[in-house]
Amino acid sequence: MKILVINSGSSSIKFQLLQMPAEQLLCKGMADRIGGQDSQLSYKTETANIQETLAIENHKQGLQKIVELLLDKEVGVIGDKSEITAVGHRVVQGGQLFSETTLITDRVKQEIQAFADLAPLHNPPNYEGILVSEQLFPAARQVAVFDTAFHQTIPEIANQYAIPKKLYLEYGIQVYGFHGVSHQYVSQQAIKYLALRKSKIITLHLGNGCSMTAVKDGQSIDHSMGFTPSNGLIMGSRSGDIDHGIIFHLVDKLGYDLDKVNTLLNKESGLLGLTGFRDLRDIEAQAEQGNADCRLALDMSAYRIKKYIGAYAAVMNGLDAIVFTAGIGENSRLMRALVCADMDFLGIDLDETKNAHNAEAIQEINTPSSKVKVLVIPTKEELEIARQAHKLLS
Ligand code: ADP
Repeated sequence: MKILVINSGSSSIKFQLLQMPAEQLLCKGMADRIGGQDSQLSYKTETANIQETLAIENHKQGLQKIVELLLDKEVGVIGDKSEITAVGHRVVQGGQLFSETTLITDRVKQEIQAFADLAPLHNPPNYEGILVSEQLFPAARQVAVFDTAFHQTIPEIANQYAIPKKLYLEYGIQVYGFHGVSHQYVSQQAIKYLALRKSKIITLHLGNGCSMTAVKDGQSIDHSMGFTPSNGLIMGSRSGDIDHGIIFHLVDKLGYDLDKVNTLLNKESGLLGLTGFRDLRDIEAQAEQGNADCRLALDMSAYRIKKYIGAYAAVMNGLDAIVFTAGIGENSRLMRALVCADMDFLGIDLDETKNAHNAEAIQEINTPSSKVKVLVIPTKEELEIARQAHKLLS
């Protein structure tokens, strides 16, 4: 069956069409900067590579343009829309309700809409993508794959905040976790690669957003992001962990309103706030040229990650492997080296020569004597969504 995977964001729609269960990628692309006059449309197959600048008014028009390309006589990969059996949607927030991939019904749509309170930036465009897809692919099954679902196994000891119980019970204020599709995919790949029956693994998804998961015997048992995706590690423009007293200080003493605090912590902090750059490649280049702020930001990022590795190794009472993934994890040998430096007490011993190569496939970059395996595994979130949709429908 052909499964179209859609990741619908506030101004973009990323897509991939996969033949399942062969896991063959038929085409992929993106409609970006939706809502502007200079929207971008990209479309790639084995033989075609199209980049267009055009005006795309809204998500419906964006998906329509994608469908036109899918059906195109020259570059298309399907003859008719009905060839698409299912559309798999990435949905960021599934609340306490969804612990598994789910067929989308009217009730499921209502719930996704309701969870917009918990994920105001993500769930509304995810929902919009579902509505548009239902209109354009009326014969296809629509499936939701939730980023929070993998983390539903986090036990109470780790998913509750020490605030009045009522807020947990009545208002769902708890750790939800994010990037679940990625953490699930790479942890499963690692378990398969290591051929472990029982396993203690830490997965590090380091991209623009960064998060870590403690995965015990294949299940998420703790995670660095929490109620929202702003907790935990230092990210491109998000602060990660801070003392919440800072928020009161900003409001009470420095006259910030809450919108401004929100923007500050989510869009102006992290690497950007520390250095003026958000892209790790720029920061690495600047550090190389002697920029002290950039050097410090790299060290601070690695230091924060080390603290979580220590914490997760402690709560799992051991560690078999750590897995690096996403843009930074897959490509930055410097960040991997900084994170793994001076961790020999934990049994982490990085092989610098192996670390210097970036590969498309799973790569083991520890020395032969390292007690803990250090793996680089490219994340394939769209493939994971297609796998889960296929499994649900088979
Ligand atoms: P997103 O969270 O938006 O999906 P990605 O997973 O694509 O992000 O990761 C983006 C991050 O990866 C950026 O900070 C970018 O600098 C970093 N990155 C990509 N390639 C490299 C590289 N070769 N070296 C260092 N960092 C890289």
